Formats: sequence, structure tokens, C-alpha cells
Amino acid sequence: MFKGWTIPPQVKDLPRDGYIDISCRSCKRLWRQSVRDLVEKERVGAQFVDLLEWQTRCIHPGCGGMVCFAVEDDELLQAA
Ligand SMILES: [Zn+2]
Repeated sequence: MFKGWTIPPQVKDLPRDGYIDISCRSCKRLWRQSVRDLVEKERVGAQFVDLLEWQTRCIHPGCGGMVCFAVEDDELLQAA
């Protein structure tokens, strides 16, 4: 999913106006997290995206499952 990167990007490397599409591996719900919110509100700009994916859990009550991140390829190319 992060093809084109030799090392995993940090959150701050993603386009600030972009989004990470998050999908729950357990309940299959989908939601979006804005990169700007992650950097400016959550303060995780220095976090590696793959580690953040690992730490993130489903936001839906009663689930708490592990998630998958997806970032648009063209957004990654613009950031590179
Ligand atoms: Zn879930």
C-alpha cells in the first residue's frame, strides 16, 4: 500500500490536505482521518505511518479491532 517508498513515510511526509482511509479489519467499517488533524491535533507528525497503523484501533464502540491504512497513490507521489 505504501509502494514507491523505500522506508515507511512519517505522517508529516503525507500531503497536509490529504486523508488516510482507515478500514477496520474486524467490522469492515471505513472512515477517514485528515493528515492535518493528525499533525496539528493528534501531534503524531513524527510517527511512522506503518507504526501509527499498528497502534490505531477501530473507533467504533464495542469493536476496537485492528485497522488498515490506505493513502492515495497520487498523493504519495506528490509528497515524494
Ligand atoms: Zn471495527
